[in-house]
Amino acid sequence: MWTTKRPAVVIIGAGIGGIATAAHLAQRGMQVTVVEKNAWPGGRCDHFERDGHHFNTGPTLLIMPKVYEQEFASLGIALRERLDLRRVDPTYHLVFDDGSQLALTSDLQRMCAQLEAIQPGSFQGFLRYLGEGYRHYNVAMERLVERDFRTASEFFAFSNAPLLFSLKPLTQHYHHMGAYFSDPRLKAAFTFQDVYMGLSPFEAPSTFSMMASTELAHGVWYPKGGMYSVVEALMEAARAAGVTFLFRAAVGRIDITDGRARGVTLVDGRTLAADAVVANADLPYVYQRLLPDNDLAQQFEHKQFSCSAISFFWGVDKTYPQLEPHTLFLADAYRDNFERISSLRDLPENPSLYIHAPARLDADAAPAGQDTLVAVVPVGHLDDAGKQDWRRIRARARQSVFNRLRLVGVTDLQEHLKFEVNYVPLSWRKRYNLAKGATHGLAHTLTQLGYLRPHNRHPLYHNLYFVGASTHPGTGVPTALVCARQVAERLTEDIQSQALIAARG
Ligand SMILES: Cc1cc2nc3c(=O)[nH]c(=O)nc-3n(C[C@H](O)[C@H](O)[C@H](O)COP(=O)(O)OP(=O)(O)OC[C@H]3O[C@@H](n4cnc5c(N)ncnc54)[C@H](O)[C@@H]3O)c2cc1C
Repeated sequence: MWTTKRPAVVIIGAGIGGIATAAHLAQRGMQVTVVEKNAWPGGRCDHFERDGHHFNTGPTLLIMPKVYEQEFASLGIALRERLDLRRVDPTYHLVFDDGSQLALTSDLQRMCAQLEAIQPGSFQGFLRYLGEGYRHYNVAMERLVERDFRTASEFFAFSNAPLLFSLKPLTQHYHHMGAYFSDPRLKAAFTFQDVYMGLSPFEAPSTFSMMASTELAHGVWYPKGGMYSVVEALMEAARAAGVTFLFRAAVGRIDITDGRARGVTLVDGRTLAADAVVANADLPYVYQRLLPDNDLAQQFEHKQFSCSAISFFWGVDKTYPQLEPHTLFLADAYRDNFERISSLRDLPENPSLYIHAPARLDADAAPAGQDTLVAVVPVGHLDDAGKQDWRRIRARARQSVFNRLRLVGVTDLQEHLKFEVNYVPLSWRKRYNLAKGATHGLAHTLTQLGYLRPHNRHPLYHNLYFVGASTHPGTGVPTALVCARQVAERLTEDIQSQALIAARG
């Protein structure tokens, strides 16, 4: 493909976006080196094993399977041959404060019986809501996610004006739920997914009804071996294409001279020269810590970041069959929960929380007769004043988990813990250099979407690119895969046009 020297690209970070971009570029014949501060790849899509217990520490849900299929295919990987995927249905078991439950399932008869028992007449509302979400999914994927907005005019084009009606970006999601349901439990059941975008349903646009819809229509899936098998599949493709990986290699700065990125300098002093640099490390962190321009870095002081999480990883000496693969406890004080998290950067009094029991899906996740449990409690991100007392907040979060588990008959978990590992927002920042410890990067508010989200190419240094959650299109593993392909395509186009100009002299 290259008539002269093969272009050399350095990628900072071996998260999903970094590995996938590396594989794409190496498959196009470039010489690609990925430098990762940690000793292993995956970034937030991480895992660990202890005493036979296997934990997914980041993603636990493979959603938008069609996107995975398409993006794996673009790397020459047949998704369903490479990963042993099983559909999780019911997707979630929701438990409300009064003890009532709702299993979200694609079995419409079962959904009808459950919904009508909670709010008579709500099944029709559910079908209408799913229909709208499905339309949102299709339009948003085609017109927003799959589009690599390179100029403002592409985003603000007159032809995009109908999106203001078809995607309802100006309507607040929770408020809009009144058109479908009156029972607050049902409004919560189909809006909690906004947290995946780092948003509260009280600020998220109604566009995100697409999440509940794709989960029920296309399914929530689980790969055998856990979500880390996605990382392993991508690493295999990258290595086969000739990518070099350097681990325990933290980048200290991106070297900029005469308006171009010349490569990177590692914290240990080594330098790597490059024709182009791709930053997969969290974008606000890159602007603030690895680049020289303070005025550009300062814009992030005013951006809105997603929430963070306190996670507990427990090895347990018995099993709790009453816990399904994905159980969500949704608090009655739903609005207050989100306000405490987004505005006060705190932990709510009675927080909504999530429990993952991977051994229900994959017997190898725990030793026989034992259980592996992950509890995730959303919490505000790090405040700049550093006044949050994480020891105290973590103790409250832990107690909330034990209290809530009583609702499903789990009363003796504390006595059966073999060990505990936990992460607080400081851990997310330290492990992956996530700005403010915000687990999903920059939030997906209206003013931080599409062309308004930080771009995939630096505005001044045109051979410096960004891939990952805080850039366009946004957070999540499937989105990172789309982003990686788009960045690889753009970088290739840019290098080819520069080579053409150079050849013309
Ligand atoms: C708790 C949690 C739950 C989630 N659940 C889901 C889910 O169920 N489904 C889903 O699809 N998504 C989920 N996500 C989101 C998903 O994990 C991410 O959006 C996705 O992994 C994309 O990551 P990324 O490409 O932005 O890279 P990142 O994961 O951010 O990786 C960036 C890499 O850069 C490295 N790095 C940083 N600084 C440097 C430096 N100076 N030098 C060298 N290397 C550096 C980091 O160590 C890291 O490995 C979840 C995330 C979290 C945290």
